[in-house]
Amino acid sequence: MQDLFKNLNKENLIKILKDNSLNQELFNYANKIRKDNVGNEVHLRALIEISNICKNNCLYCGIRRDNENIIRYKMLPQEILDTAKTAINSGYKTIVLQSGESNCYSTEEFLEIIKEIKKYDVAITLSLGEKSFEEYQSLKIAGADRFLLRIETTDKKLYKQMHPNMDLQNRINCLKNLKKLGYELGTGCIVGLLNQSIDSLADDILFFKEIEADMIGVGPFIPTKNTPLENASSNNFELSLKVMALTRILLPKINIPATTAMESLHKNGKILALNSGANVLMLNVNDFKYKQNYKIYNNKILNENSIMDERNSVIQKLHEINRSICNDKGNSKTKKDT
Ligand code: SAH
Repeated sequence: MQDLFKNLNKENLIKILKDNSLNQELFNYANKIRKDNVGNEVHLRALIEISNICKNNCLYCGIRRDNENIIRYKMLPQEILDTAKTAINSGYKTIVLQSGESNCYSTEEFLEIIKEIKKYDVAITLSLGEKSFEEYQSLKIAGADRFLLRIETTDKKLYKQMHPNMDLQNRINCLKNLKKLGYELGTGCIVGLLNQSIDSLADDILFFKEIEADMIGVGPFIPTKNTPLENASSNNFELSLKVMALTRILLPKINIPATTAMESLHKNGKILALNSGANVLMLNVNDFKYKQNYKIYNNKILNENSIMDERNSVIQKLHEINRSICNDKGNSKTKKDT
């Protein structure tokens, strides 16, 4: 069976994705590849969801423009800095700033925020959606290190259905621009979207290699209230774990988070992911008042723990599965100089 895993061409990817009798073997093999290539250390990232304002209307997403049932917020730059400082004081070495897609912050505001956070010895990851080459460039010059922009799906037709008024080619161009500018590049897909084929998931995995991603986030689709897909099927956990495991085998050195969406569909989801190829955890460090409004999907795991308590409880759980915490910035091992 390992021969099949060692030759991940499109045909074999499809075969493995369709055959559930191989699942456990696949997860174990991906776990071994993870251990051999990126070791036992887990990178903890502090995730700050800075705003849920969004101009896009993605059919699956709870913060889509047309959802009038959520309270929209924009954190003030000072609040972002205060949250980042508390996270840094609690031991985090990477700050992730994520938001819906909007122009509610000016580029100047972002530059200021990035420069302030970079006064500390930490890495900054941005996940702010599609922007022009020039904007990505100024954010990079100000000190941003990494960027996450999921392709969501590489299936042209499905992409169009899921993302009204958006363009797959534009998203691909954004990823290429980010790579050109020297960002560590994160992308990924949603697994289980309505009308998504196994064939297209194989293409997604091959795309991750082609674009030379340094980080891949794979999550199951979760039907979400007040969206057009609220009644779609939510049985996507295993398949998303398989896509993640295959990604680890194809791209042995990259960083792969155990995603929050996995935990939302399965009570042990993150641990299962960490044992099937993942080596990163992104922990939400927002105040509860913001956390509860960044509702990209239902059942998002929320807690009111302090940043320090949450971090310590995660470290404890990681020790239980014999995994340690990485104490440096946790750059991707895809580059020789890091
Ligand atoms: N605006 C940013 C960040 C979006 S939110 C951007 O465009 O990159 C982060 C991720 O949540 C999205 O990329 C999407 O993959 C995921 N997501 C949104 N709704 C979801 C749902 N219903 N189920 C699973 N994942 C979802």
